[in-house]
Amino acid sequence: MATSLRNAILVALAATPTIQQTCTGDVKCTCELLRDVLTEVNGTVLPSDGDTYKDIEDENYSAACRLPAACIVSPKNAQEVSTVVKILSQTGAKFAIRSGGHNYIPGFASVDEGVLISLSSLNSTELSEDKKTAKIGPGNRWQAVYEALVPEGLVVVGGRVGPVGVGGLMLGGGLSYFATQRGLALDNVKSYEVVLADGAIVTASADNEYSDLYQGLRGGASNFGIVTSYELYTYPARDFYVDARAYSPNQTSDFLRAVAEYQKEGQLDPSSSISVQLLESGPTILLLYNEPVQQAKAFDAFYALGTYQPIVPAFNGSLLDIMALTGSRFSTGETRTYGETFSHKTDADLMVELYSIFTEETASLPSGASAVWVPNSIAASVATLGKQHGGNLLGLEEVPQQWYEWYITWTEPTQDRAIWDISQRITQRCTDAAKAKDLLLPYLFMNTAGKTQDVLNSYGADNVEFIKAAAAKYDPGRVFQTLQNDGFLVRNL
Ligand SMILES: Cc1cc2nc3c(=O)[nH]c(=O)nc-3n(C[C@H](O)[C@H](O)[C@H](O)COP(=O)(O)OP(=O)(O)OC[C@H]3O[C@@H](n4cnc5c(N)ncnc54)[C@H](O)[C@@H]3O)c2cc1C
Repeated sequence: MATSLRNAILVALAATPTIQQTCTGDVKCTCELLRDVLTEVNGTVLPSDGDTYKDIEDENYSAACRLPAACIVSPKNAQEVSTVVKILSQTGAKFAIRSGGHNYIPGFASVDEGVLISLSSLNSTELSEDKKTAKIGPGNRWQAVYEALVPEGLVVVGGRVGPVGVGGLMLGGGLSYFATQRGLALDNVKSYEVVLADGAIVTASADNEYSDLYQGLRGGASNFGIVTSYELYTYPARDFYVDARAYSPNQTSDFLRAVAEYQKEGQLDPSSSISVQLLESGPTILLLYNEPVQQAKAFDAFYALGTYQPIVPAFNGSLLDIMALTGSRFSTGETRTYGETFSHKTDADLMVELYSIFTEETASLPSGASAVWVPNSIAASVATLGKQHGGNLLGLEEVPQQWYEWYITWTEPTQDRAIWDISQRITQRCTDAAKAKDLLLPYLFMNTAGKTQDVLNSYGADNVEFIKAAAAKYDPGRVFQTLQNDGFLVRNL
C-alpha cells in the first residue's frame, strides 16, 4: 500500500470515536491498538515479545531507567508519531518519550506500565541542497550524524560523545566542542519539526508563525510536543589538535587551578576547548584546538603543570577521530548511573574546595560504586552567542563559569536510595559553599540535572512565564503535562 494512503487510513483510524470508548484508561488495550496500527517489524513491542522487547528496553543508558513499559512503540516518521500522539491523547494512556535514552533520571525516558515512544527509527541526517543546514532525526546518535557530515567537509554543533542521543541533548542545551565559538547546540537550530498534542505536524522557526514555539524549545524541553526533526546550521569541518592527558591524584589542586587559569586566558581563544574528568586515579583532560597545530598557546596553563601520562600521543585528527577516542570509554550493561548539577562563577579556590566536598561524600559510597567529577568550563561567550542568535530561555550570565556534571555508577538496585541520598547531599553542600563565597549561579544544566532539581525555575521568572504560556498555547488540553510520565515539566512548577 502506498505510504501516503496507509498514513491517511491510520489518521482516520486514530480519530474513530470507538477507539476512545474501547480503550479509555486502559493501557493494555491502547498497546493492542498501537500494534494494529503500527504493523511493521518492531512497530509496537510488548513485554511478551521476550528478547526483542528487552533489547529495546535496554537502550536506556542507566539500568535504573529501564522500567517495564506496557509496550514500546517505534514510529518511523512524523506522520506515525502524530498517529501515536492522537491515540494516546484519546485513550488517556500514560507515556514517555525516548530518543537516545541517555538521561539518568528513571521515568524521564522510560515509563512503568505506560507506552514508551522510542524515536530510534527517526534517525536520518539530510543535508539541504546548499549544504548550509542538515535535518537531523532525534533518534540519531551523534556518531551517525558526524559520520554522515564529516565526509562532506561539514560539522554541526552537537554532542561530545558518539553514542549519546540527539533528541534529549538538543532540548537540554547541548554542550559541544564548539561551544566557545558557536554557543550551545540549541543556539544553532534553524527550525524544529514538532508533533503537537492534537497530532498537528508543524515546523517552528525564528521567523514563521510558530516563532514562540521555536523560542520555547530553546530551553522548554518536552513541554510542547515531540520534536521529530532538528534543522541545524552546518559549519566547515576542520581538523583538530587532540591531546589527551592523565595526571596523578596529588596534582589535583594544581590541575583545578590550571582549569581556572585557562578560563581567564586560554579560553578567550574560541578555537580551544577542554573536556575534564576527575577520577579516583587522578584528573584527565582532553585538550582540543580546532586547527591542526602541534601545540596551542591557549593550553599554556596545562603545559605548565609538568608530569603527565599521555592517554594517547597528541595527534591531528577529525571530529570522527575524537569520537573514536571518547566513545570507546562508555559502555553500560547493567551499570546504573545517576548525577546532578549546579553552576558557579569560575574561581580556583572554590573549585578545589568543591572537589574536596565531593571526595569526602563519595568516600562513603556503597561497595562497588564509583564516582566521577566533571567540571565543564563554560566561556562567557556561550551566553553572548546565545543572545546574538536570537536569545534562548536559559538565563545565562556572560561570565566564565563552571557547570558541573558529576555522576556515580553502581550495579545493585538495593543501593539506589543510598546513592540518591549521597547525591543530594553533594549538591546541597556544594551549592552552600558556592553561595557562601557569593559565586553561585542559579543556572542548572538540564542535560546533567538530577531528579529533584528545579531546572526550569533556574532560568528566571520571565523565561519560566514564557515556557508556561507556550505550553498552554500549544497543548491546551495539557496532554504533555498530564499523560507524560515525567520530565522537567511545567506541571511540576
Ligand atoms: C556518556 C554521556 C555523555 C554525554 N555527553 C554530553 C555532551 O557532550 N553534551 C551534552 O550536552 N550532554 C551530554 N550528555 C547528557 C545528555 O545530553 C543527556 O543525557 C540527554 O538527555 C541525552 O539525549 P537523549 O536523546 O539520549 O535523551 P533521552 O534520555 O532519550 O531523553 C531525555 C529527555 O528528553 C525528552 N525527549 C527526548 N527526545 C525528545 C523529543 N524528540 N521530543 C520531546 N522530548 C524528547 C525525554 O522524554 C526525556 O525527558 C551525556 C550523557 C552521557 C550519559
